[in-house]
Amino acid sequence: MRDKTATYQRLQAMIVEKGCPICHLSQDAATTYLDTILWESSTDLNMHQMLTASIGFCGRHSRELLAFGGQRLAAAVVERSSLLAAIRRLPELAAEAGAPPPSQFRLWQVRRQNQNLDGERPALPAGIKPCPACIRQANEETRGIKIFLAHLEEFSSPLLAAGGLCLPHFLQAIRTASASEREILMNIQQNVWAELAGDLDEFIRKQMHHHHGEPISEEARHAVERTIRGLTGEFPVR
Ligand SMILES: [Zn+2]
Ligand SMILES: [Zn+2]
Repeated sequence: MRDKTATYQRLQAMIVEKGCPICHLSQDAATTYLDTILWESSTDLNMHQMLTASIGFCGRHSRELLAFGGQRLAAAVVERSSLLAAIRRLPELAAEAGAPPPSQFRLWQVRRQNQNLDGERPALPAGIKPCPACIRQANEETRGIKIFLAHLEEFSSPLLAAGGLCLPHFLQAIRTASASEREILMNIQQNVWAELAGDLDEFIRKQMHHHHGEPISEEARHAVERTIRGLTGEFPVR
């Protein structure tokens, strides 16, 4: 069976680039989505309803709106919709955020609900729907991983050359992989990360001993950035 889906074709194109192909695929999907919104539907009624429900896009995707050259007017229209929604919904959201505990006698349960783990940000009120671009991106991640696994034989060696998946996408893929797919993925990941650790070692060794004159390989030169991308994703995630 030949797979002609757009996601498969994009995956084929992206896996030849360095870095996690699922990151590239999903980032590309979100960018296309935002671009379409700016060009076509910033005044659309559905868009208006969606922005009201989510009160605009998340921090990352709203900033991305400003990255499209010449589209600041459309970005302003989107942000205006979001701001007016925030103003309109403020009393309702404040009520939800400041709602008293359901029962003062169930202290332990109440504390569990209201207390976050150390350093964890309190979640947004349930009345604010998730960022629509994040949803688009998450859907593409899920689809991308499914198609990636279905074509694992074809994609294994380009993935090795690309430097494997990032940790979040590796774990996401492992969750849906069969036992044999899991073994292949583990193998690839262990190989590329062992090599990356070697590059980091080379970088550290040459910096520590002030071997500045010694040539350093291109891989080692970027080993710190590559490690950060490998452990957290190609783009700062959500
Ligand atoms: Zn990734
Ligand atoms: Zn978002």
